[in-house]
Amino acid sequence: MRSNIAHYDLIAPNSLDAVLQILADSPDHYTPIAGGTELMVALGAGRLQGKKLISLWNLEELRFIEVTPDAIIIGAGTTFTDIRQHRVIAAEFSILAQAASWTGSIANQNRGTLGGNIVNASPAADSPPALLAYDAELTLISTRGPRTLPYRDFHLAYKETALEPDELLHSITISRNYKGYKTYIRKVGTRNAQAISKVAIAVLARVNKGRIEDIRIGAASVREYPARLTATEKSLTGKTITPESIAAARATILTEVRPIDDIRSTAKYRAAVAANLLEEFLLSLG
Ligand SMILES: Cc1cc2nc3c(=O)[nH]c(=O)nc-3n(C[C@H](O)[C@H](O)[C@H](O)COP(=O)(O)OP(=O)(O)OC[C@H]3O[C@@H](n4cnc5c(N)ncnc54)[C@H](O)[C@@H]3O)c2cc1C
Repeated sequence: MRSNIAHYDLIAPNSLDAVLQILADSPDHYTPIAGGTELMVALGAGRLQGKKLISLWNLEELRFIEVTPDAIIIGAGTTFTDIRQHRVIAAEFSILAQAASWTGSIANQNRGTLGGNIVNASPAADSPPALLAYDAELTLISTRGPRTLPYRDFHLAYKETALEPDELLHSITISRNYKGYKTYIRKVGTRNAQAISKVAIAVLARVNKGRIEDIRIGAASVREYPARLTATEKSLTGKTITPESIAAARATILTEVRPIDDIRSTAKYRAAVAANLLEEFLLSLG
């Protein structure tokens, strides 16, 4: 049943400190809302449990992109349009720019934030495969101070994350160490635009004289949460690309993914496509 908007409250403190203090004083009481592109859908459909919302939209402490000599730091409140239009991201983090460009519609990209995409924790979200491949680091913040953790450790189970009730996602840090890496990202969905992925894979690989020295594979819609495919990475590290190494990698990825049947696709199709995408990337290295 649809919700009655009059049953909901929204507060919009004008600083990050004020938001954090309210979350510290009454954890679990308020649901943070950034762009609202997930939450307003849930609200409209009568699925939003929390009736008290605290707005993060336009908090300048969360909406920034900082470039340092070693890293790029993206505030959690940065929109997909901000990401898509950023010169350094386009030049150095092309698979993140690509993921931002196929997230929903332009209206979605103007409003939806990277932080909302991560914390919402959908197994099918578009930015996680790229962030996993880049081995991004998250900074979480509360009145207790900031703490960092690798993004690959953030998702704990379906829709469960390492975020504490009084914490917010503050920012996402990506090292600028990937010069010369081969990159790949592909989302397979019902259509090219405005479709949730059936399977998505992002890969970064450092290849020297045909030998894979380092490889990182981030995947969506093949597990209960977005995940690195570490066994497949291991099976390829140190290998040259031959029909045998490709066949071995295909066999490993098929054991590593745990897709499900749902309204969008079948487990069997998802597993087969994951292996095909990996093979497509490996053949592109030849
Ligand atoms: C029509 C439509 C199409 C879409 N298409 C796609 C698509 O193609 N690919 C895709 O990945 N997604 C898609 N989405 C989903 C959505 O747009 C994205 O997930 C977006 O990134 C959510 O960001 P938001 O700021 O709007 O999140 P919100 O709706 O504001 O919040 C989402 C969740 O994150 C939490 N949250 C937000 N920011 C923080 C923070 N800083 N710290 C702690 N918690 C926080 C909220 O409490 C909530 O639980 C689509 C949505 C719609 C409505």
